Amino acid sequence: MDVDLSLVGWRVSTRAKRRAAAVHHERVPDAEIGVPYPWDDGPRRCTLSLTWGAFDSFDRSEWSSTLRHELVHVEQFQRFGTTSHGPQFRERADDLDTERHCRTFAEPKYRLHCAECESLVARRYRDCDLVREYDSYRSSCCDGPLELDVTADD
Ligand SMILES: [Zn+2]
Ligand SMILES: [Zn+2]
Repeated sequence: MDVDLSLVGWRVSTRAKRRAAAVHHERVPDAEIGVPYPWDDGPRRCTLSLTWGAFDSFDRSEWSSTLRHELVHVEQFQRFGTTSHGPQFRERADDLDTERHCRTFAEPKYRLHCAECESLVARRYRDCDLVREYDSYRSSCCDGPLELDVTADD
């Protein structure tokens, strides 16, 4: 992708609740998608913010797709001074096999970890047999007992 990563800051948000990631940039007056912006001394910096709560909710391929989506925003910002989910975005997202809209995530209510190695064994959005009777299951990694974490509603 045509992105200058030295102009991208990274941040992890522990507060964001729905969006898995977002690009924050300052508003550049008179910037327009499709019109290369005449930066005086190169594009401004922007910040790519990743949501901590989405970390467990996505697998690796979902995360790489999310990053490609956000980098399309960065690419547009550096080129045009602004970014949006318009037709140009769609075309670029198709090329890069990612989605047109920012991904959202829902935090699972239950997470089951292996008590031996702490790796994540399962996540469940609602009550089920595994959640109710987790102490009769064993982890596949270590054949150890499971631990249940419950995320409080807020
Ligand atoms: Zn987006
Ligand atoms: Zn384990």
